[in-house]
Parts: sequence; structure tokens; C-alpha cells
Amino acid sequence: MKITTTVSETRSLIRQWKKEGMTIGLVPTMGFLHEGHASLIKKCREENDKVVVSVFVNPTQFGENEDLEAYPRDFHRDMALCEEMGADLVFHPEPEEMYQDACTFINITDLSDNLCGKTRPTHFKGVCTVVGKLFNIVTPDNAYFGQKDAQQLAIIKKMVMDLNFDVRIVGCPIIREEDGLAKSSRNTYLNERERTAALCLSKAVKRGQEVIAKGCNSNDVLQEMNEIIEKEPLAKVDYISIVDALTLQPVEYVERPVLAAMAVYIGRTRLIDNFIYGEEPADQ
Ligand code: AMP
Repeated sequence: MKITTTVSETRSLIRQWKKEGMTIGLVPTMGFLHEGHASLIKKCREENDKVVVSVFVNPTQFGENEDLEAYPRDFHRDMALCEEMGADLVFHPEPEEMYQDACTFINITDLSDNLCGKTRPTHFKGVCTVVGKLFNIVTPDNAYFGQKDAQQLAIIKKMVMDLNFDVRIVGCPIIREEDGLAKSSRNTYLNERERTAALCLSKAVKRGQEVIAKGCNSNDVLQEMNEIIEKEPLAKVDYISIVDALTLQPVEYVERPVLAAMAVYIGRTRLIDNFIYGEEPADQ
């Protein structure tokens, strides 16, 4: 497995592989890898000749008072996992290599206005910009994203269509802990009490899935989900919404594929979870 830190050495490796007729898959990550990331790398390994994993804590997707400095990092452990999962290349640039004195950004309207975009108004501009740059550097045939970040996945798909990026976007299902908590690098912030409290997110997802299957309108589903979160004293809802799975606009009645998504503070840690209803699940 190779490790690169500069755009130019990454490009020359990729150029060589393309000359040899290899297909390239990309898994963008911010590191501190867990089984959720591993599932993306595994899928990427199955579908491509060469597997590229990027490990980059992208400063432009963090807001001013967010956890950029505190974000967990463990590059050596990440490398071991990438190696074990069969990655061919890990691209691990410094922020200066990616941005230097950049003043060009990709800004997506509409889809970034609600859900996480309300509390994190500059987040998706940073995400789209870094993913667009990674697409230009790695020129992957396929790129892998988790359904865990459902709004991000919908936004990346739209960006690829709008800007004619020549890449297939593959959505991968949410990987959970045995007790249901969606795996996340940020789970490491939780103390023991908070870790138990955090189960209210996956419980609300489960309840939502049961209720929505009975054909209720959105408000009834949201109420049931809210009740579960409200019972947990350490939890504070940022948002719980049911939106059209493609446009991310709120829907009153569940008639077409919808995304039920939430962000909840457990103590000071903001966690997200979601489910899609009425659509084929993401590739297994
Ligand atoms: P991150 O390192 O948090 O930026 O995540 C990198 C990629 O891994 C994103 O596409 C995430 O959606 C995906 N991911 C993170 N956690 C999970 C999970 N629990 N299940 C599936 N995919 C995940």
C-alpha cells in the first residue's frame, strides 16, 4: 500500500494506473476509521482494480465553533485498517497542500439549506469543495459514501449531476454497533452515561420505521420519534425531519421515498442518524 501526501505524486500514480487500464475507486474519509469506513473500503475493493482512500480532516467543513482541533486522529491505526481492507493508496495531505491560498469554492443551494445545513450553514460548501477537489485529483470511476451522512450523500449526487463530474456515486448502508448506535468517529467523545443516552437516536429510528410502515402522515411519525428522544434527559434535539429523499424538502404525507433524519446533542456531542423509507436500500 502506498501513502501520498501531495497532489502531484498522487496524480502521477493514478496516471500510471489509468495507462494500464485500471479502474479506480475512491473512499473519502476524515480518518479515525471504524467499521463504517471499512464497509465502504470493502465495497470499493470489490468493484475496482485500485482502491484509493483519502484521510483528510477537512478544515473548510468545520464551522468556527466546531471541533476541528479536537477531531480524533490516529493515522497509524488508520493505515493498519486500510492495509487490512486491501487499499492500494492512502492520500493524506496537509491542509496547506489542499488549500494554499484558495478562493474558489463549490456552493450548493437548496439542498444545503435545511437539516444539518441549518445548524452548520457553511458545512456543505466545505464538503462539496473538498470532494470536488478529490474527484479532480483522483479521477475515480466510482466513489463510495455512507448513508449515515444522508444529506451529504444526496448533495454529492446532485453536485455530480450539476457539474458533470464523470464518476459513479455509490451509497453504502449505515453500520451500527451491536446495540444499534450508528458508528461514528465522534462516538469517542461520549462518556459512559452519554454512550447509553445516545441509544435514543437508533431507538427513535426503529420506532420511526415501525410507525411509517403503517402509512401515517409525517407529523405522527415525527411525534413518536420525538417522544423517544425527549424521554432521555441528556439528549437535546437539533432537528428531526421527514423530507423528500431527493430534494430534501419537507413532506407532509409519505407518498414517495422519504428520508427521516435527525441530529441530537448528547451532552456536547452532536450525533446524527436516519432512515430512508420507500426506496431500495443502499447497496449491500
Ligand atoms: P467521515 O470520516 O466521518 O467523513 O466519513 C467518511 C465516510 O464514511 C462518509 O461517506 C460517511 O458517510 C461514511 N460513514 C461514516 N460512518 C458510517 C457508518 N456508521 N456507516 C456507514 N458509513 C459511514
